[in-house]
Amino acid sequence: MSDIGYCIQCSDLVQSRHQIVQGEGNLRAKLMIIGEAPGEEEDLQGRPFVGRSGKLLNATLAKLGVKREDIYITNVVKCRPPWNRRPNQLEIDNCEGYLQEEIRLIAPRVIVTLGLSATNALLEIPVSIGEANGKVFQYRENIKLIPVYHPSAILRNPNLRESFERALKFAIEEAKK
Ligand code: URA
Repeated sequence: MSDIGYCIQCSDLVQSRHQIVQGEGNLRAKLMIIGEAPGEEEDLQGRPFVGRSGKLLNATLAKLGVKREDIYITNVVKCRPPWNRRPNQLEIDNCEGYLQEEIRLIAPRVIVTLGLSATNALLEIPVSIGEANGKVFQYRENIKLIPVYHPSAILRNPNLRESFERALKFAIEEAKK
């Protein structure tokens, strides 16, 4: 994966970030997980999904028999937005080239988008995450996209945990096909 280097395209993010958080994992992964943007802990450590949401994601993947090293994890936007606000459309557009390069190089069978923001950044037609969770969308000829609730939603509302796990399990199985 090429290094993003010192990107200064987004004026807000350049000021709020400590560092750029690039994607990580297996470059030959069949499953690619895409989140929204780094949070506080990710921004400090320089790695995606290492905070509370990341711990929940790791534990769920482990429960489903998947090691983080076997998959590839990244975010739509690679810098932490101030006060963890949602990245805006300009920031998503500015980062799109990096994400598209990751998708092209990894060429996964399945992309899991975590949460509404990542899902709508990749799909052309807006969806609601409640309806899209665990459904299959054809992203490219050979790439399925399966939206799944963001782990932070499970931390806020544990009632969603079962649907989250079921959707992730389904995506893992699809990636093995
Ligand atoms: N939430 C995200 O969407 N991405 C991270 O890397 C961490 C939390």
